[in-house]
Amino acid sequence: MQGACVLLLLLGLQLQLSLGLVPVEEEDPAFWNRQAAQALDVAKKLQPIQTAAKNVILFLGDGMGVSTVTAARILKGQMDGKPGPETPLAMDQFPYVALSKTYNVDRYVPDSAGTATAYLCGVKGNYGTIGVSAAARYNQCNTTRGNEVTSVMNWAKKAGKSVGVVTTTRVQHASPAGAYAHVVNRDWYSDAQMPDQAKKEGCQDIATQMVYNMDIDVILGGGRIYMFPEGTPDPEYPENGRQNGVRKDRRNLVQEWQAKHQGAQYVWNRTALLQAANDSSVTHLMGLFEPGDMTYDIHRDHTKDPSLEEMTEAAVRVLSRNPRGFFLFVEGGRIDHGHHENIAYRALTETVMFDNAIAKASQLTSEADTLTLVTADHSHVFTFGGYPLRGTSIFGLADGKASDRKSYTTLLYGNGPGYRLNMGSRADVNEKQSVDPEYQQQAAVPLGSETHAGEDVAVFARGPWAHLMHGVQEQTFVAHVMAFAACVEPYTTDCHPQRPSGPSDTAHQAACPSSLALLAGALLLLLVPTLH
Ligand SMILES: [Zn+2]
Repeated sequence: MQGACVLLLLLGLQLQLSLGLVPVEEEDPAFWNRQAAQALDVAKKLQPIQTAAKNVILFLGDGMGVSTVTAARILKGQMDGKPGPETPLAMDQFPYVALSKTYNVDRYVPDSAGTATAYLCGVKGNYGTIGVSAAARYNQCNTTRGNEVTSVMNWAKKAGKSVGVVTTTRVQHASPAGAYAHVVNRDWYSDAQMPDQAKKEGCQDIATQMVYNMDIDVILGGGRIYMFPEGTPDPEYPENGRQNGVRKDRRNLVQEWQAKHQGAQYVWNRTALLQAANDSSVTHLMGLFEPGDMTYDIHRDHTKDPSLEEMTEAAVRVLSRNPRGFFLFVEGGRIDHGHHENIAYRALTETVMFDNAIAKASQLTSEADTLTLVTADHSHVFTFGGYPLRGTSIFGLADGKASDRKSYTTLLYGNGPGYRLNMGSRADVNEKQSVDPEYQQQAAVPLGSETHAGEDVAVFARGPWAHLMHGVQEQTFVAHVMAFAACVEPYTTDCHPQRPSGPSDTAHQAACPSSLALLAGALLLLLVPTLH
């Protein structure tokens, strides 16, 4: 049996080689030695930038564990006509990396609320709570007061910088809310989701806090229903009553927000966003593009809704008008949702879109004055295994059969809705099924929604003080590095010098050469399934 497997493997490899799927230059030791020499050269020339960061951008891939990053790298490489794993993502090209320990104060495996408190406020909190220390208890309104902790966005604002949040989820969702809200229950999006007791005790919903806790210059994402009085028809889906506003207090928070600032503009579609971003009279910009979360990018109506990359560009353009710089939080928020559904195609295509936004921001800013961090709040029980052959689809089958003589996919989940038995046993799967964008990968344990995972996540860093991102750190370190690099609270004394103004020296250093396998790439184009 084993001999047969080896024979099959060899046959498979030979087939691969004969089809040119393995770049032929990789058979030559000189190829690897040359590549390593180039990487060494780049590494030796790395110089820490020790002047103050004028701008700080934090990219947060919700649920983007390391296995997600690796699988998305292969997907993006293949979408680009390359074999995949050798082709660096935009985030891969950042010069410094650390590991972040993501646990909440009360749980090993965290959620997006407690972790947002950690990486944005610099203090770990409890599961389900946002912007409060662990002395606050989940869902107990009366434990909020006195336990609030403020975020790096707040500190940057106090220092005179412009600030913004961009997300593909609703803007009141746990991760962006970590930048501006203090709440013991992450689901209190509007007053309609709050129990009467909490309202009586004076707790405020997240949407209201977004408008009143601080002055946020740019807010882009989904989440219209939480801003308008109950029954207000949605501008995009006026016939669909389920998309109406939900606020019980009858307040129109968009109107209230606009009244606060001259030059404030509200938009709800892509065209208006692009116009507003280019209008220098716009000082404050709120764009809410869906009633709830924005759609997955693969389902997006490109004429109506902006991509994460477009929102990021719009935000950078508006925020850059402040000569004192800006803080921007950008979330790829639906990577997490794809994983919860056990649909890896959704999670990975969202990760690729997230990486495109990182590439765009890297083009629009300078490494000399902008600290950019890329990290995740937590991982997922998403695995990438089974010895798949190089050049095959990342969504394809593992090489060989399982012990039940059925095929299995390279991508699998530890738990979730993908657990399904067929006549008491695991379903077989073929290549055509597994590469379908709707395919739900198999899971070992049945759950309505797949869970997060507890292992560390990566932090990629580029720009002033990026070299502080090293080693294995508590997740709270992320907020402190951003504050220290930008010389904002609580690091305003003993501040490092500002960078002398002048033309910026944007020496963008790629860590890896990407001049691989043009021929193999062309062949692959014919073989890799088309991705939309
Ligand atoms: Zn999640």
